[in-house]
Amino acid sequence: MKFTRRKFMAAATLAAAAPALPHAIGVARAAAPQVGKQAPAFYRFKLGDFEVTTLQDGVAKIPKPEAFVVNKPLEEINKALDAAFIPRDNVRIPFTPTLVNTGKNLVLIDTGFGDNGGPTTGQLMTNLAAAGVDPKSIDTILITHFHPDHLSGIRAKAGAANFPNAEIIVAANEYKFWTDEGEESRAAAVWKASFANTKRTLGPIAKDVKRIDYGKEAVPGITLIDSRGHSPGHASYVVASGNAKLMVIGDVTNLPGLFARNPDFRLWADMIPDQALDTRRKLLDMVVAEKMPITGYHYPFPAHGYFTKQGAGYEFAPATWSPTL
Ligand SMILES: [Zn+2]
Repeated sequence: MKFTRRKFMAAATLAAAAPALPHAIGVARAAAPQVGKQAPAFYRFKLGDFEVTTLQDGVAKIPKPEAFVVNKPLEEINKALDAAFIPRDNVRIPFTPTLVNTGKNLVLIDTGFGDNGGPTTGQLMTNLAAAGVDPKSIDTILITHFHPDHLSGIRAKAGAANFPNAEIIVAANEYKFWTDEGEESRAAAVWKASFANTKRTLGPIAKDVKRIDYGKEAVPGITLIDSRGHSPGHASYVVASGNAKLMVIGDVTNLPGLFARNPDFRLWADMIPDQALDTRRKLLDMVVAEKMPITGYHYPFPAHGYFTKQGAGYEFAPATWSPTL
């Protein structure tokens, strides 16, 4: 290699600028301090011409598995937890919004808890910043359903919109249910907070919330899919660019190690249980048949992968991590 004068000068300047290292002057090196906190959690991949990013909002611990899966004896739930390597006493549910940049629109699907959840949630804004995304640049928010872990992050507790320039687009059925006083008066006590949270988040902008039907495009390339059952107006989304497709599946299954492997397990929050189980099989059969990748809101990070049919259930196969796009 030719060592030019310019390179030599550059190397000499660096050497002069470097501080004296401890080992160079005979001082013992201290052990490195432990960092003590998690790395930023966002993950990018390409889908045709689109760029997709999944982002972590945090996790919540489930106190009692038998109150989480509500139609099976504890013994059977424990067997399923053991088979999925989920500690019986530490079942944790992750929250994972998906961001899609179509080249024309910057679309956030679900918004996490914002500052309205517990101490182990509300990481979306931090992870958006780490991913280099300004919340003001998001032009569209889509919501799979109005449970607080998906909707709360639209608005901070103090009242400010977290995504001030975004149009909010939701399934007409879901909006109708959660803003209907009759439904609210008939709802089980456990859902009262979700009705109140819908008023808090969407009330101030009700006239601007765009409501559309299943089968319609929210923005070019992102179509609402009827996935009712977990909630009365639940929507999943098919994101399509050219021949490439992705299903943003929402809460059609919660933890795949439990509810995809055992699709007849009923989640406490499945509001219309029989319909939720039918929808689960229908959508999982669809992604299996089309070999369509998915992102799943409550899936292990980065919550991106595929399903195969295994016996009576479905097995989630995480997509291979890619260091390039
Ligand atoms: Zn959820």
